[in-house]
Amino acid sequence: MIRLAIHGGAGVIDREQFGGDREQRYREALRDITTATHDRLRNGASALDAVELAVRLLEDCPYFNAGHGAVLNSDGVAEMDAAVMDGRERRCGAVAAMKTTRYPVSLARAVMEQTEHVMLAGTGADRFGASVGLEQVDADYFITDDRRRQLTAAAREGRISLDHDEKYGTVGAVARDADGHLAAATSTGGMTNKLPGRVGDTPVIGSGTWADNATCAVSGTGHGEYFMRSAMAYDIHARMAYTGDDLDVAASAALKTVASMGGSGGVIAIAADGTVALPFNSPGMYRGWVDASGEVRIGIYQDDG
Ligand code: ASP
Repeated sequence: MIRLAIHGGAGVIDREQFGGDREQRYREALRDITTATHDRLRNGASALDAVELAVRLLEDCPYFNAGHGAVLNSDGVAEMDAAVMDGRERRCGAVAAMKTTRYPVSLARAVMEQTEHVMLAGTGADRFGASVGLEQVDADYFITDDRRRQLTAAAREGRISLDHDEKYGTVGAVARDADGHLAAATSTGGMTNKLPGRVGDTPVIGSGTWADNATCAVSGTGHGEYFMRSAMAYDIHARMAYTGDDLDVAASAALKTVASMGGSGGVIAIAADGTVALPFNSPGMYRGWVDASGEVRIGIYQDDG
């Protein structure tokens, strides 16, 4: 059975401040992207193609912290991280601190499929993207006025902030296709006002992104340093593989470890049997998924969807 879940970041999404038209626009974007990807899966797309498609659509959408609309580092530059993983043989590709390739997730996929490596960083990653024909854009293409304002505020207050504090977010997708294969992809601009060169959990395989047909596909969002310190995505896989935990139990336990160190965020995950889990320990997580009856569902707060 086909399964799909996407996220657009988890964090402090306050109903009072956020509600109304703006909230509606986010819900519509999540619904459109979930529906378009689900249609593709129903027409025979592989899990890998589906997660790449969903993340590309999210990267194009300026509401979310990935691709166009990514947050800015302390130099005012969008430096992005992304990863993709194929659950069939645990093949994976990742890029870190890249700046000019229009679709970071496709660059990660190209690393997986067209190099002997798992991760490329910085200018080397973009140069490789250009060499295999991936669209290159001026660094300004990624920058929106909202992100400039966000950076100015963070710099004034001397803080490095999770994008979610400003109600935007990192993006990701997990899918199970009709053949039972799993895949995961995640893409982000990281944290506002981060040090140039900072790399978060997103491209670190086993922290922000993971897929293994035997257990689960996972994409995380939250304070990346804590997700790295707890090997969050791999922790979910390991609990399922070694103790036989089901996905719900494993995902909640892994997130508890993140929380016990002081980290907040959430994950979207799909198990080999098609179970979907979407736990988060922050007030909100933008999410869309397809439920057991094939309906597209959207949620933002703890109590909706
Ligand atoms: N996990 C991302 C990072 O730390 C941020 C996010 O999820 O919004 O780079």
